[in-house]
Amino acid sequence: MKKTVLITGTSTGFGAATAYNFAEKGWNVIATMRDITMGKELSRLNNVLVTRLDVQDRKSIDAAITLAIEHFGKIDVLINNAGYGQFGIFESISREAILNQFEVNVFGVMDVIKAILPHFRSHKGGTIVNISSGAGAIGFPMASVYSASKFALEGLSEGLRYELASVGIKVKLIEPGGAMKTGFGTRMGSEIAALKPAEEYIPFLTRIGKLYGGMEGNSDPDAVEKVVAAIYDAALDNTHQLRYTPTNDIAPILKARRSTSEQAYQSFTDSLFLGE
Ligand code: NAP
Repeated sequence: MKKTVLITGTSTGFGAATAYNFAEKGWNVIATMRDITMGKELSRLNNVLVTRLDVQDRKSIDAAITLAIEHFGKIDVLINNAGYGQFGIFESISREAILNQFEVNVFGVMDVIKAILPHFRSHKGGTIVNISSGAGAIGFPMASVYSASKFALEGLSEGLRYELASVGIKVKLIEPGGAMKTGFGTRMGSEIAALKPAEEYIPFLTRIGKLYGGMEGNSDPDAVEKVVAAIYDAALDNTHQLRYTPTNDIAPILKARRSTSEQAYQSFTDSLFLGE
């Protein structure tokens, strides 16, 4: 029997590429998005059902899951991909913008997981793949709010992994680096443009801008393909491995974070971000 995957945020980026990848591999795909007019091409594929799901609208979450089960009989894999990056100097970001970041990247994911778990438990199985980020392991300057949301997603996934393993359900985390060749950079740019940081931050912002500009030049050219492949591997992986780090661009800093002492890590990142 064909397997079925439900993916959030398939209008663009990793979500759209992942929907095409699963469809090409013969899966049934429930490609969900906020604005279904973005899914016209995807909906032409036989085994793809495009439907509305806004992670900030619980009724739309329940409706998409119910429709998927009615249409395909069963859901085997859930991919929580929908998300965005609220970047910028923390002090300049409004409370409303911070709440929105958490509603999409954290509470929305929790709502989708809660809505699908009774179905997974009834089948004694299922896999949840959460799209985190290198920023889910490391706090980057200008990314404090985004990192806070992805750290929350990592904590949720890590704890949930034990609970759900006890009932036969797997939890996975994908940690892409700064791939950016999706709609992510555009939305991030518009969120930053709306901010007015205090003048005192300008020298730091200039320094970090140059640093990030240089890093973008070094970013992995095949990053999107690698992320999409890692999502597919994680969905099929029969182990309870939690984390997958598919792109090389963040490998040195992730290694420093996870394999060296706190002191060595801080002196590495202080020289990188503060020039000390
Ligand atoms: P993207 O092209 O901007 O895709 C983000 C998707 O999330 C879009 O389909 C967007 O839909 C959807 N979305 C946003 N708010 C939503 C909501 N309330 N309900 C449902 N869907 C919503 O960016 P991407 O890079 O593919 O991002 C996908 C995931 O990868 C995100 O979780 C992001 O944090 C993570 N990530 C990205 C990078 C990177 O550099 N690209 C690196 C690490 C991690 P709309 O079109 O309706 O806005």
